[in-house]
Amino acid sequence: MKHISYWLLFLTLFPGAVLAQEDTDKKALHPCGTPAGIDPWLRKYLAAPTTYPESSDTLWAGLQIHLLGRDDGSGRFTPDRMLDAFYRLNEDFTPTGIRFYFKHPWNLINSTLWFQHDSIVQGRAMMFANNVPGALNVYFMVRAAGNCGYNLPYAGIAMAHACSGANDHTWAHEVGHALALPHPFLGWEGKTYNPDLPTPDTLLYDYTHFHATPDTVVPAPLDTALVEYVDGRNCAIAADRICDTGPDYLSYRWQCNAQGMSTVQQRDPAGAPFFSDGTLFMSYAADNCQRRFTPQQIQIMRTRLLTDRSSWLATEAPVTGLVGQTAQLIAPINQAPSPVNATVLQWAPVPHATHYLVQVSKVSGYGIRDFEAVVTDTFALATNLTPNWNYFWRVRAFNAASVGPYSASGRFLSVSASAVQSATQAGWRFYPTLLPQGVPLAVEAPAAWRDQPLVLSVFDAAGRLVYRAEHALLSAREWLLLPTEKWTAGTYYLVCTGSQGTVRQPLLLAKP
Ligand SMILES: [Zn+2]
Repeated sequence: MKHISYWLLFLTLFPGAVLAQEDTDKKALHPCGTPAGIDPWLRKYLAAPTTYPESSDTLWAGLQIHLLGRDDGSGRFTPDRMLDAFYRLNEDFTPTGIRFYFKHPWNLINSTLWFQHDSIVQGRAMMFANNVPGALNVYFMVRAAGNCGYNLPYAGIAMAHACSGANDHTWAHEVGHALALPHPFLGWEGKTYNPDLPTPDTLLYDYTHFHATPDTVVPAPLDTALVEYVDGRNCAIAADRICDTGPDYLSYRWQCNAQGMSTVQQRDPAGAPFFSDGTLFMSYAADNCQRRFTPQQIQIMRTRLLTDRSSWLATEAPVTGLVGQTAQLIAPINQAPSPVNATVLQWAPVPHATHYLVQVSKVSGYGIRDFEAVVTDTFALATNLTPNWNYFWRVRAFNAASVGPYSASGRFLSVSASAVQSATQAGWRFYPTLLPQGVPLAVEAPAAWRDQPLVLSVFDAAGRLVYRAEHALLSAREWLLLPTEKWTAGTYYLVCTGSQGTVRQPLLLAKP
């Protein structure tokens, strides 16, 4: 039950109010820290592409996500942003026939050093310490050595929060590198094209980190790239060696025109003028320009997955269907009053969903959340809300391979009140007060609550439903055997609803 224990861990680390993220300004970051180079696999492939396997199937590539936080767990990429980024990655890859999925639960790492690392050497150490085999390992942190992102061919991808938004393509770009694609401007990294100088035929570049193994990192080796001509005469041996990406010499973040082309005119070594294609994910054009991989780039990435990176591939589709629908909210809606300490949020199941992100906020934009949880059921319990607020709440369904849209917002009015009574004040008794695992809970209900159908629910401290049953109490004292062996020690809430109303009782589960 690794999956279950993970979500519990996840919830304990995202408790209560979730504040807006502190991000570095994206404009201050270098677009990509992936050092220049032609992957040795790509050299071999391009020399004899027809000898490699082909497939027209959807290729399901497994991801291992690592979310970095500081030593105290703060600063971490929030689940809503993670889902936005994941949605964007799969959208960007839709034409490739490659679909990414969460192979394992997200790994939460607390390390201030790695969370805001300054050098790729530190990032490499982080990856070596945490990589999981059989998946593409991707790390999200606030600072990735001054870059929007980078890929180490022998280790994994690092992503800066500021460049991992719902409309950013850095992740697609770095996955392109991980699947052997170079920049179309290979050779120009770290150099600035000057239209006033004649364009050279060759460029020397440093491929320090771009090796199949890390053992040749120091001293920095150099390699030579041929500069690509406009007429395509040397496209198979120049720059990225990919012929359906045209010449491009722009190795800084640049803005495109309405056609997605650069406004900077360049001239090839023969003097022929051209503009760079900013629609390519592998270029350094701004995010609003980028929208595609070329057919040859797609062919290369798919072949790479089928051969050298086949360990990332699922042998069968990891999910039975994609999540496409919004959740229908059931209660509370229409500004219904709901108790500050026990608001049970309920929605209808969404086809193919295995998980739901639930958010409660005082503001319609959800920039600050009073409650946020990832749950596997269609209920959540929000506690510690502020009285007399018209709250917004919404749900987003997802599974390992897809993310649905957010539901419409529901509204409820938080009331401090008597709608939910404390069970003990209502005359109930529960014992033992510190419940050992596997021991039945004794329940003594007042006569008015007996001999009628009751719904008994238990929620953990993060609001996740862990138990729900219909049960009638027929005698003055009954023993309730809850599946506590599966639960971690800590505080839970028993919520009981019947014709008398609703009562709530905290339960303390002892350490085993
Ligand atoms: Zn790059």
